[in-house]
Amino acid sequence: MSRFTTDLINGIEPYIPGEQPRDKRYIKLNTNENPFYTSPSAMAKISESALQNLNRYSDPECTELTKSIADYYGMETANVLVTNGSDEALAFAFYAYCKNGVCFPDVTYGFYEVIANLFGCPMERIVLQNDFTVNCENYYNKGKTVVLANPNAQTGIELSLSKIEQIIKNNRNNIVIIDQAYADFGSSNAISLINKYDNIVVINTFSKSRSLAGARVGYVIANENLICDLKKVKNSFHPYNVNSLSSALAAEAIRDESYFKRSVQCVKDGRAQLSKGLLELGFRVLPSSANFVLAEHYVMRGEVLYKKLKMHGILVRHFKDERISNFIRITIGTESEIAELLKVINEIIAEKDNENC
Ligand SMILES: *Cc1c(COP(=O)(O)O)cnc(C)c1O
Repeated sequence: MSRFTTDLINGIEPYIPGEQPRDKRYIKLNTNENPFYTSPSAMAKISESALQNLNRYSDPECTELTKSIADYYGMETANVLVTNGSDEALAFAFYAYCKNGVCFPDVTYGFYEVIANLFGCPMERIVLQNDFTVNCENYYNKGKTVVLANPNAQTGIELSLSKIEQIIKNNRNNIVIIDQAYADFGSSNAISLINKYDNIVVINTFSKSRSLAGARVGYVIANENLICDLKKVKNSFHPYNVNSLSSALAAEAIRDESYFKRSVQCVKDGRAQLSKGLLELGFRVLPSSANFVLAEHYVMRGEVLYKKLKMHGILVRHFKDERISNFIRITIGTESEIAELLKVINEIIAEKDNENC
């Protein structure tokens, strides 16, 4: 730390991203990326002519991409704001709506707490039930902004659309932010609610279901007035927030419906394959509607399993947070990656059984 900064910055604990190691090739199941390549027709957009325009600033309105997103959901372009990854959308929304207070589950995406601290937003963590589900009544009439990832990060558990709607109805005087990073792998999408309620902000990303984590594109869908608020924040912070190559990729990726459907289906099939395999190996697997599963083994601690898998060239995610410290979070990989993971876990558990004999 330098002696020039503030106590706030000195005291901050930044978000720790999952490892992106470059030392060797791992089977990489730790950061919920999509194992399938980006849509080929999207990749084809990075043509010579796109590259030749890089001397010009990107379109600050992201006109083409905004229109593709609006068309996809049957919304107006005034309901859409494109951001540099959904982490930026979260930052804008926290800046605009959380200064007086924000609440979210005790087990969820770690970035919420980090941004709340950075912006000095008073925060409340609401304890998930023993089975890691949200009790929606705990979120009624909060008098502060409610943030929910749905499906929830780390657990993969989804809240039904009717329960989300109840939470929105019971918070008419504050904002409810629904982070839908994993919604395409589940079955409840809150976008339909934005025409009905003026207090819901939906945040989405191209990083997971659209195989574009490296392009850094996210977006907000909300009532026109809310989008105006967020645009003000964006234009006061970073007017050219999305680069022109990423915009072109994302605009085509959202139009390539057949590729999207196929890759989402493959991930869902992989999720069933992985969950079944883990159950057979004696794991407890939380019911996931996302592109990962959170699982714990009764005889082997999460951290030990994480380390042993890493030695075998397989990366999964382990969190130190008390409630989930015995679990590992495994991103859904390709069919062969899942088969390899299950084989290696089986060997690790067999070794441990031998040691115990
Ligand atoms: C991955 C993730 C994000 C961040 O996505 P980017 O668009 O890559 O910034 C946001 N929220 C949740 C819950 C996530 O899991």
